[in-house]
Amino acid sequence: MTDLTSLTLTEMQNGLNKGEFSSRELVKAALERVESSGVKTHAFLHVAKESALKQADDADKQRTTNDGRQKPLLGIPVAIKDVLTVEGLPCTCGSKILEGYIPPFTATSVKRLRDAGAVIVGKTNTDEFAMGSSTEHSAYGVTKNPWDLTRVPGGSSGGSAAAVAARYVPAALGTDTGGSVRQPASLCGITGLKTTYGRVSRYGLVAFGSSLDTVGALGRTAQDVAQIFSIMAGRDPLDATSADQPVPQIQFDGDAVRGLKIGVPKEYFIKGIQPEVEEKTRAAIQQLKDLGAEIREISLPHTEYALPVYYIIAPAEASANLARYDGIRYGPRVDADNLWDVFFKTRGSKFGPEVTRRIMIGTYALSAGYYDAYYGQAQKVRTLIKRDFEAAFREVDLIAAPTAPETAFKIGEHINDPIAMYLEDVFTLPANLAGVPGISVNCGFDKNNLPVGLQLIGPHFREDLLLRVAHAYQQVTDWHKKAPSL
Ligand code: GLN
Repeated sequence: MTDLTSLTLTEMQNGLNKGEFSSRELVKAALERVESSGVKTHAFLHVAKESALKQADDADKQRTTNDGRQKPLLGIPVAIKDVLTVEGLPCTCGSKILEGYIPPFTATSVKRLRDAGAVIVGKTNTDEFAMGSSTEHSAYGVTKNPWDLTRVPGGSSGGSAAAVAARYVPAALGTDTGGSVRQPASLCGITGLKTTYGRVSRYGLVAFGSSLDTVGALGRTAQDVAQIFSIMAGRDPLDATSADQPVPQIQFDGDAVRGLKIGVPKEYFIKGIQPEVEEKTRAAIQQLKDLGAEIREISLPHTEYALPVYYIIAPAEASANLARYDGIRYGPRVDADNLWDVFFKTRGSKFGPEVTRRIMIGTYALSAGYYDAYYGQAQKVRTLIKRDFEAAFREVDLIAAPTAPETAFKIGEHINDPIAMYLEDVFTLPANLAGVPGISVNCGFDKNNLPVGLQLIGPHFREDLLLRVAHAYQQVTDWHKKAPSL
């Protein structure tokens, strides 16, 4: 019998529909794989074994009914980044300050997957409050890259990316505030979609940078990611910033690439980029040309300001969002003689160093007297960055570039150098500042057999275009089929 964990989401659906196996068998296979190699990768912070098996049995029962058979994800195992709430399961955000917190409600994105029949296998590791690019900032230990266990999986959705790359689950949810879906997808050799800001409800997503946060999907193929996307996207009355835009069912027929104009921004091929990353990305762009695209060099002139702008805006918003963790309302409390000391001692001992750094930067940037000079100025430059994209999309249909400047780096390599860590997201941050969608697909391997990611960026609400082009690329290449040996 085939190893059930080797199947993609679409293959699992086909097998379930044909009765070749049950959801219980699928979910058991996933859980066994987590049990046998989960300690090596540490992709999960919480494995929901009992509830997953129960959901699987329930799915098998539902499959005998007409209503059940309508559910597109019925019986499919998925994993959820631990910054999204799932009623009854722990939600730590990779932080000690939320240790023991069990949310009484489920994030809309997750609920839509559940309503479509998906089985939640567990919560995946993340940098604390999604701040980081390596998952090393998790208070519960680093996740390891399935391609090389001495290296990081990227971050902050490193647990979700590793869980898909390691074949624990065919798909997982992540979040992308500055690159946290695309960059780990790149470093783990899978497909990761950052949605348009407002496309997917943020209800139940623990806030980091509220004007930047997006929920995204990770899977092995663009087709699988498209399914997750279409199910979770769309207006939600519980999130006032969720957009009232029709959500397409993405059709993968026809010729997605022929006649497309694809822009290659010169600012994304900078000095310091790993030569093999540039080489593989350019080869992938050539392949899109071979498929009939017209390739044009373009300029996004304000790209160099994206990193400093992001590192004002994201910490500013984070410092405001994280004010709620005071030892009173959620999770653990460090007792003290008076209220102030409860705040100081709880926050001082439960937040990790990166989160503390962000709170300090954000509080400083927002303080009276500095607000205009930092936050106000950053917002103005953010508008210029957004306009760069708007101008580019008047010329081209989409943009192609590397996802990350280098392949998976060694655990510990950047941990004491915040700037080096921040630089991991130079190519992904601009899309968050502009609110546009992006996708990363595997486009080859470096000499250490580590995956390289091609990033495609599209206009607002054009996830369909990104997914169709990514799919077309995956029809003529087989990078996405390669699996790490664990
Ligand atoms: N690495 C970036 C940061 O640390 C982005 C993180 C994210 O997208 N959640 O802020």
